[in-house]
Amino acid sequence: MSLINEILEFNKNFVENKEYETFNTTRFPSKRIAVLSCMDTRLTELLPAALNFKNGDIKIITNAGAMITHPYGSVMRSMLVAIYELGVREIMVIGHYGCGMKNLDGCELIRKMRAHNIPKENIEAVLADGVDIHKWLDGFEDSEKSVMETVNVIKNHPLIPAEVEVFGFLIDPHTGKLDRLE
Ligand SMILES: [Zn+2]
Repeated sequence: MSLINEILEFNKNFVENKEYETFNTTRFPSKRIAVLSCMDTRLTELLPAALNFKNGDIKIITNAGAMITHPYGSVMRSMLVAIYELGVREIMVIGHYGCGMKNLDGCELIRKMRAHNIPKENIEAVLADGVDIHKWLDGFEDSEKSVMETVNVIKNHPLIPAEVEVFGFLIDPHTGKLDRLE
């Protein structure tokens, strides 16, 4: 069932045929922008195309819901590296309409884990570790509010310099239309 062998075969040909040559760029984003967006498959190619982002233009960080669940988690860490190491000066938080994280219930996800034979003790061990697992897995109720909360976490973060500007948006996953949030 796995596609891994197919992927490896494709990759071998890709490298042999030097198909990588059209992708050559540097690790520094030429537009000095970092985007935090959702991992939704509909956005993978649509978002860069709709915003005229070409290969090498931006840093893009994606996760489920374009959310920052912790001010000292991996998203903020990536932002800090993008700013201090890679020259980013503007941050765009781009949520989207019809996001799967809207109204996602942490309890429901835990029920699915249980159905996949994750023992109750494992869930309890996470709680014992001081992680509020339900809250951690919960999505959001209001897309606009969630994006603006994330914008504010970045703006008010003690390690983000004042000259970095942060903006919030929602994108339509069908048309690519971008709405700016205030
Ligand atoms: Zn989404």
